[in-house]
Amino acid sequence: MKVVLNDTNKELVDKVIKYGGKHVYECFQCGMCASGCPVASDTDHKIKRTMHQVLLGLDDQILEKKAIWLCTTCFMCLERCPQNAGPTEVVFALRRISAERGIVPEAQIEVANNIYHLGHAVTIQKGIKLRDKVDAPELKTAASDKKYIDEIQKLIDSTHAVKLLKIRKDWKPKGDDVIACD
Ligand code: SF4
Ligand code: SF4
Repeated sequence: MKVVLNDTNKELVDKVIKYGGKHVYECFQCGMCASGCPVASDTDHKIKRTMHQVLLGLDDQILEKKAIWLCTTCFMCLERCPQNAGPTEVVFALRRISAERGIVPEAQIEVANNIYHLGHAVTIQKGIKLRDKVDAPELKTAASDKKYIDEIQKLIDSTHAVKLLKIRKDWKPKGDDVIACD
């Protein structure tokens, strides 16, 4: 079964399809996706509603609210969808569209910069130093050797992420004293 709505803003749905959400039209609004979503009950991110809004072309309502960035990308909705409409893929596509319009929450910009400069989503530099201080075995992570960071940066530089996620070469990590296990 395929649901096709007429007289809608097709620009959004066409772009979602172009960016990977190619089965979005299969959604028939059963709600199975939302019922298994770990963030649906506690946040504004409602995947069933988002699917509907895409089909209606309501891009402002989706993008300005920034709720799509609360998705954990756990793929539960994709697994549960009886229509194989690929809701997680739709979220990925929406995030790209959002980033192209310059709408990216500060937290995501920080995570992107952390990964680019430190190799981790959160800063762990203090933890590495502490291990050294107490003679604990060296922790081998992307952050422990500049050559790994160079590789990560080379990889990211070859994508659109630097521009879309506002990665800055002169960026300094916030909360350098914070470690993941604090
Ligand atoms: S489970 Fe699939 S068909 Fe049902 S509302 Fe979610 S995306 Fe649409
Ligand atoms: S991938 Fe995102 S929208 Fe889907 S169930 Fe997980 S958190 Fe919810």
